Amino acid sequence: MPQVNLQTPVRFLKGVGPEKSKILARLGLETVEDLFYFFPRRYEDRFPVKPLSEITRQDKECVTGSVTSRGMIRTSRGQSIFKVVISDGEGALFGVWFNQPYLAKVFLPKTQVVFYGRVETSGKHLQIVHPEYEILKNGGLKDSVHMGRITPVYALTEELSQKSLRLLVFQAVERMAWLLKDPLSFSFRKKVGLADRVFAFKQIHFPSTHEDQRAAYRRLVFDEFLILQLIIQLKRIKLQAENRSLLHSRGEKDVAYFLETLGFELTTAQKTALQDVLNDMKTPKPMNRLIQGDVGSGKTVVAAAALLFTAQNGFQGVLMAPTEVLAQQHYFTLTQLLEPFGIRCGYLAQGLSEGSRKELLSGLSEGRISVVVGTHALIQENVKFSRLGLVVVDEQHKFGVLQRSALKEKSAEPAHFLLMTATPIPRTLAMTLYGELDISTIRERPQGRKPIKTFWVGEGKREEIYGLLDLEIAKGRQAYVICPLIEECGDFSAKSVLSVHRSLSRLFSHRKIDILHGRMNAGEKHRVMKEFREGSIEVLISTVVIEVGIDVPNATVLVIENAEKFGLAQLHQLRGRVGRGQEDSLCILFSDTSNPESAERLRAFEESDSGFDIAEKDLNLRGAGDLIGERQHGLPLLRIGDFAKDAEILEWAQREAREIIREDPALRKSRNQSLRREIQKRTALSEEQPTVTA
Ligand code: ADP
Ligand code: MG
Repeated sequence: MPQVNLQTPVRFLKGVGPEKSKILARLGLETVEDLFYFFPRRYEDRFPVKPLSEITRQDKECVTGSVTSRGMIRTSRGQSIFKVVISDGEGALFGVWFNQPYLAKVFLPKTQVVFYGRVETSGKHLQIVHPEYEILKNGGLKDSVHMGRITPVYALTEELSQKSLRLLVFQAVERMAWLLKDPLSFSFRKKVGLADRVFAFKQIHFPSTHEDQRAAYRRLVFDEFLILQLIIQLKRIKLQAENRSLLHSRGEKDVAYFLETLGFELTTAQKTALQDVLNDMKTPKPMNRLIQGDVGSGKTVVAAAALLFTAQNGFQGVLMAPTEVLAQQHYFTLTQLLEPFGIRCGYLAQGLSEGSRKELLSGLSEGRISVVVGTHALIQENVKFSRLGLVVVDEQHKFGVLQRSALKEKSAEPAHFLLMTATPIPRTLAMTLYGELDISTIRERPQGRKPIKTFWVGEGKREEIYGLLDLEIAKGRQAYVICPLIEECGDFSAKSVLSVHRSLSRLFSHRKIDILHGRMNAGEKHRVMKEFREGSIEVLISTVVIEVGIDVPNATVLVIENAEKFGLAQLHQLRGRVGRGQEDSLCILFSDTSNPESAERLRAFEESDSGFDIAEKDLNLRGAGDLIGERQHGLPLLRIGDFAKDAEILEWAQREAREIIREDPALRKSRNQSLRREIQKRTALSEEQPTVTA
């Protein structure tokens, strides 16, 4: 073999070759280093190896002995059953296999073997069906890779056996772990009590004891979080490069006056968030702030005030929203709020007429339009600003990282950057996902809002619910009915907008009903939303296009069909469409699901109306990966650590990362070179294009 290093392809390892290396590539195993980082899924305690006379039924046991007899039975249906008896002089045990006749060549008489598996009784004797096994060589058990130890169990792919993969990792770890350089100095490790790296990799794969495994885990999780935090903090430093031309120095009086014209007073949390934003904009450092506030907490006015502030300082502002319906609504709201100050607003989305598009684009590049609202068309189109000062991204979790930053890069100079989200995430996740951002949280909702009553009901209650709905409309209120589909689609059993529209048109012939979904053209969507906002449409049957942001305070009833088809966060967003005025609101979930997971979700949803609680529940039910749509955040995926379980290590790694960067901001010192190398590798890995979710 040529000289190995960490990047040596697995193909060159003993027993691999071209065929097997293709199979391994499916698991992402291409180099020696990949093998080290292919952490076990779990472990099995295949020890102690007990004398056969001491084993007990029901338990998983590891036993050893020599083959004393064996035999093959063929059943009438052409099946084969192969049995061996092993004995250690004190006791005996059967190994039983179905349809594996080739084993007759493996278990020759007197062969020394080890078995692992669940012991059962069969007649008078003990047996293990399909045991894991290993044939012992001269060295006996102490040379065993698979048995008599805490045995790692790895994720597999087709055509790859657990044993061959385990052996491969074993050989790599045994022979090549010394190649791993430890980026942490001995004195540092000693000070904080972390294991060394070679030890950690050996022990995570083939632990000597559970305690050593824990020490190894701690070390590797620490490394992973440290690298992650270094990446984030380096990014943060880059973002904070000063730029005097961004200084906003006037216009605070206008903002104060604007707030007076609103007709309501900002909540304390809104005031604080707005003050955070204004303070950021008054410095030469570009703002990078996230406003996290539950649905209906009133984030839009904060954004509007910030946009006003930027315009009054002679800059342009842009607000990007994930859907056309929401962008139109924001355009409508901002026009009303800002035009009295002489600020011209524009709108950009797909499907605009050529004339309006051109006019908008020239208005922006020539600086006639100060505030533009739109969808992700804002990044796709050839938009040029004359002097961009502020970028606001609403419902930012609906966009990919690249989409968010692409918008910011529209201006030659850096701009202030404000993200808004109604999907709060647990603290540990926020530290990582939003580590380079400052966060303002709006926890309270405006005064006088009543909790939304939420009920999960079955089909049997439909008539009763429709009665309630009609009563509400009679009181002058409006309703949404949300369906998972636009129209029926094969045998996928769920309600559709079109079918519900047909039946409700009959049942509610005295009411004005209309529909909204993503396949309608922009003009139609616009008309429907306008009429709904003005109250002339009383019941709006819609898909999830209204999931985020839509604000019609007079709507007080929300009916969700096939509620089991929606995730917790999504249900919560949908529910946020009601409860926006002073009236009591109602959210009805129709579902006859018998799936226990769905039922648990719906019950959890019925019980809580706080987005913050729901986010925690979501993390527990789904795990972090799902919750954040891992590819969306542009950071490397976690290979070993866990945001929920390892919060304490994460916070510690964050502190250490700060310390490292404080002493060596560009990681140039020689002691930081291996950290630097790892950062480069990890960031290169994560630069895949995130998918467009808007
Ligand atoms: P979200 O945080 O979900 O984006 P919006 O900004 O759409 O919430 O606000 C929801 C509704 O509450 C809007 O109709 C808005 O005008 C109103 N609103 C916002 N702030 C207040 C407040 N402090 N008092 C009363 N109503 C408010
Ligand atoms: Mg909003």
